[in-house]
Amino acid sequence: MALTFDDGPSPEWTPRVLDMLREQGVKATFCLIGAYAEAYPELVADIAREGHTLCNHSWFHEFDLGRWSEEQVRANLQRTNDAIVKAAPGAEVGYFRHPGGQWTDRAIAVAADLGMESLHWTVDPSDWDTRKTAAQIRDHVLDRSAPGAIVLLHDGASNQEDMCGALASVLAEFTRRGYVYSAL
Ligand SMILES: [Zn+2]
Repeated sequence: MALTFDDGPSPEWTPRVLDMLREQGVKATFCLIGAYAEAYPELVADIAREGHTLCNHSWFHEFDLGRWSEEQVRANLQRTNDAIVKAAPGAEVGYFRHPGGQWTDRAIAVAADLGMESLHWTVDPSDWDTRKTAAQIRDHVLDRSAPGAIVLLHDGASNQEDMCGALASVLAEFTRRGYVYSAL
């Protein structure tokens, strides 16, 4: 199974997620916002150094990106990749995840042109929703995951305290179930 963390990097949450993943020896995938990669390059470097996979999540989470012109989509994705690679020289950005999963054929084609595979998810506990408790997030992930699952979590939202609480028990339980993590 694969864990994916979207909308960062965030100085508040990304270091906590990295600590938890390191403690459990888990590699994951981080879908980064270009503007935040530019603002917090040291966090991008940390993510890359620890062996996690990098994914382009657009420059500023433009939900309607896929309806822009091909040229505009390309500029947005390229600018994001440039910010990521500037922060983590030599890093490879092999994946693209459209903001909100609002995929269009154009966005997928441009991403492919830039060498990125489009990456969706299979399990979404809506952990960015501050009404969700840690127990709700944990149960959603554990109940709906099966081998091959791609779990959508966020290290860049307003309050991810509950996600962090859920992550600790999710990691422990998945390990107990014998899951192996793939960073994709
Ligand atoms: Zn997102």
